[in-house]
Amino acid sequence: MLKTHSCGELRPSHEGDTVKLAGWVHRRRDHGGLIFIDLRDHDGLTQVVFNPKEAAEAYAVADVSRGEYVLQIEGTVARRPKGTVNPNLPTGEVEVRAHAVTILNEAKTPPFYIVGDSDVDELLRLKYRYLDLRRQRMHETMVMRHRVTKYIRDYLTERGFTEIETPILTAPTPEGARDYVVPSRVHPGRFYALPQSPQQMKQLLMVAGFERYFQIAHCLRDEDLRADRQPEHTQLDLEISFVSDEEDILGLTEELYYDLVQTITPHFKVLSHPFPRMTYEESVRRFGTDKPDLRFGLELVELTEVLRESEFTIFRQAVAQGGVVRAICVPGGAAFSRKQIDELTTFVQGYGAKGLVSLALLGEGGLDSLTQDEIRSPVAKYFTPEQVQVMARLAGANRGDMFLMVADRPDVANKGLDGLRREICRRLDLADPNTLAFAFVIEYPMFKWSETEERWVSSHHPFTSPREEDISLMDSDPGRVRSRAYDLVCNGWELFSGSIRIHRREVQEKVFDMLGIGPEEAQRRFGHMLEAFEYGAPPHAGIGAGIDRLMAILTGQDDIREVIAFPKTKSATDPLTGAPAEVTPEQLAELHIAVTEAEKETS
Ligand code: ASP
Repeated sequence: MLKTHSCGELRPSHEGDTVKLAGWVHRRRDHGGLIFIDLRDHDGLTQVVFNPKEAAEAYAVADVSRGEYVLQIEGTVARRPKGTVNPNLPTGEVEVRAHAVTILNEAKTPPFYIVGDSDVDELLRLKYRYLDLRRQRMHETMVMRHRVTKYIRDYLTERGFTEIETPILTAPTPEGARDYVVPSRVHPGRFYALPQSPQQMKQLLMVAGFERYFQIAHCLRDEDLRADRQPEHTQLDLEISFVSDEEDILGLTEELYYDLVQTITPHFKVLSHPFPRMTYEESVRRFGTDKPDLRFGLELVELTEVLRESEFTIFRQAVAQGGVVRAICVPGGAAFSRKQIDELTTFVQGYGAKGLVSLALLGEGGLDSLTQDEIRSPVAKYFTPEQVQVMARLAGANRGDMFLMVADRPDVANKGLDGLRREICRRLDLADPNTLAFAFVIEYPMFKWSETEERWVSSHHPFTSPREEDISLMDSDPGRVRSRAYDLVCNGWELFSGSIRIHRREVQEKVFDMLGIGPEEAQRRFGHMLEAFEYGAPPHAGIGAGIDRLMAILTGQDDIREVIAFPKTKSATDPLTGAPAEVTPEQLAELHIAVTEAEKETS
């Protein structure tokens, strides 16, 4: 090797040793006759000193070296003089006095600073991702990502799991997104799908008798991109046979996540362990969402009954039409300005809610003495102190607090209040960034009604088992059928989804039927699954867990692009390689594909 030690390795115990280091010029300082270079490699930084009196040739080379030049240095390890020790650097007690230096490669001036964590335009960062990844935060993130996946691999291997790869060129598997497809050259007009997940393969591996499977798998989904979505993401995909109930999976994964955090990021406080379990119904009722951030309160308050006969026409009408009145009660919210309330109203309207009604409780003393004058609201005259007292009791509110109310269809109200809850948390800084609030959400509805497709679709995916006692509801009231799906959520992110699977053919056929997949289509698309279930499929269950999301949480990032080595932009392009790119007419011809002029223009 060109080096005897890494740049993160040297300590006072190496004093007097002759060493060779190789790496990049991180910083170069000229200090009246001496040149100092902080040499950087994968492992860290070491200060190298060039003294023209001790090594004139080396000094001359250091003199012409610039940032990001690649150098090999030979020198002697010395303790740094008193007062120049850097306690923030693991190698901060020593320096290397250079005897010789070789420029292994020169470097152009990078388009942005590698040193520090300055804000750089993202397109530029992605175009020069190999330079961006040199920056300390990115470099550390990638190393930590490796530690996380290694921890998972070791943890599961010790518990009898086998890692098995599944194909990237495969047949479609429905996970609710569009497929990326790959045209077949040898089968004109036919296409492979890139896997939205290894769902079917892992179930088939259970039929194949592996019992405990996992894989760190790439999943590809063509969908609208958001901060927590990329065209391809990495999943911990896991499946177990012979589970008796949900707890078998929840218990295993609870310990995996808990132990992982304790080992890799022990500075986090895990809010509750065991992780709370709550039903989907409870989660939506309390937080308006199935991925609640449990680090702060601001739970939704159900006011529909109290305000059913409200003098306020908008509320009365909304309830009469089957809508709800729900609210968030903000402690100390009476201090919000008119402008802030207007902003929050516009914010909630962005989620489709018609409006937001504020009502603050002013004055001093117990609530029993609340007077009409102490109700501050644009619609205060429609509320009596008695009504407000009931509302306050429901919400546990006091004087100085403020209700923010939405009257709308239940789904719209929930969505708006969920968004509002997170926005208020952001504004009032209510969530501790060093706390992880894990929770399991269970008993998801089996089906949800798709307005656009006018049919029932799976809430999770079609291989999810319904609860045994709800199977009979499938014909009469599909919306009430509960599934055996579960999610792990943390700090408002969905960390994994999974379910107990169907393992009997007739149940699977029934579910396909509910989803509008008739026998012929079921046979054509999923015949292999139906058939496999007839060859002794064991009861089984599993999860697909987002590694990128986990990494974002553990590194305190809002966007998963920050934890992926080579992510795509928000419009699914890769500025580094230029993907997606055009292909040659010869390639298109071979693939039996014609691109129309109109398509070319819009791309
Ligand atoms: N395949 C599912 C997903 O990707 C996870 C699972 O059910 O295991 O969300």
